[in-house]
Amino acid sequence: MKYAIRSYGCQMNFAEAEEIRQYLQSVGAKETDNYQLADWLFVLTCTVRQHAEDRAWGFLKSLRSWKQEKNNRCLVVGGCLVSQSAHLIKSRLPYIDILVPASENIVWADRLKKILLNSSPICPPPLKSTHQSVIISYGCSNFCSYCIVPFVRGPERCRPAGEILSQIQKLLQSGVKKITLLGQNVNSYFDNSLDFADLLKKIDNLSGDFTFTFLTSHPRDMNEKIISTLAGLKKWSGELHLPLQSGSDRILKLMNRGYTYQQYCSIVRAIRRQRPDICLSTDLIVGFPGETEEDFCQTKKAISELNFQHFYAFKYSPRPPARSASLTDDVPDKIKEERLAEVLQSQRPGQQ
Ligand code: SF4
Repeated sequence: MKYAIRSYGCQMNFAEAEEIRQYLQSVGAKETDNYQLADWLFVLTCTVRQHAEDRAWGFLKSLRSWKQEKNNRCLVVGGCLVSQSAHLIKSRLPYIDILVPASENIVWADRLKKILLNSSPICPPPLKSTHQSVIISYGCSNFCSYCIVPFVRGPERCRPAGEILSQIQKLLQSGVKKITLLGQNVNSYFDNSLDFADLLKKIDNLSGDFTFTFLTSHPRDMNEKIISTLAGLKKWSGELHLPLQSGSDRILKLMNRGYTYQQYCSIVRAIRRQRPDICLSTDLIVGFPGETEEDFCQTKKAISELNFQHFYAFKYSPRPPARSASLTDDVPDKIKEERLAEVLQSQRPGQQ
């Protein structure tokens, strides 16, 4: 049996793709890069931007003939598009066999065992890579005004710390050398009285020769306890992805990000004071409703001041029902394109 996986968007989807891969390999299935040769196809969709949603719809529509070519093919679609538009997908693309909304806490091995591989035993999965991701929380309760994630992935739900630690220990025992903790906002992690800083310390104290990092941090929740904890970690790789989004306080407020540019800078300064070796990356959005030339200049200034190792920049697109979709999308697309190109050109050589 051959399977293929197409994963779009964020690290959560890529982590889920890895779970699917490990389970299917453990029961003897073979992966192919060419989905035309596959019996099962898994598509993990993203709707965080209009462009991503259009690509997902385009690809799913193109699969009608793939499904019809062979009787026993199985098409499984997961991710945010399913949470957002399950009814529409069912009515427009009835040839999809299984829809898995991203708002569910998915354990793919359990799901696949139940639905597709009822009788197959699970053996320890052969690991492809010594770098593995561990999901620590699902969903998000922040409601940044441009973001659809809280609507499609639901409110934040944190996994119990004991479960996370035991998953990490198993991965380490099987030869993994690097762990990435995943959540939409890892800094707000909470399990009873244990917070993100406590979780980091517990992971750091696990025995073994490994490093770890975490994605994604929110500046609003990067509190003093986390900052001082980072300074003492021995196994943290020093990679820090801390989305700024805009250098303009006016735009940050409209985005409901909950910090000012200066507060962001203070966090970075405090962390760099204790760990000068951090590899700082960020996300930026250009063309948010009402973004003036002056606002955009503040974003460019932030890029030059903060010395990011790399950053990801995107053009704004309204994602209803996220709140900013009710604002007039008044920055012309041509200007958004120009601003995006300008920002991307300002990446230093070696940045990506
Ligand atoms: S923190 Fe904001 S941008 Fe990130 S997932 Fe949550 S709502 Fe979206």
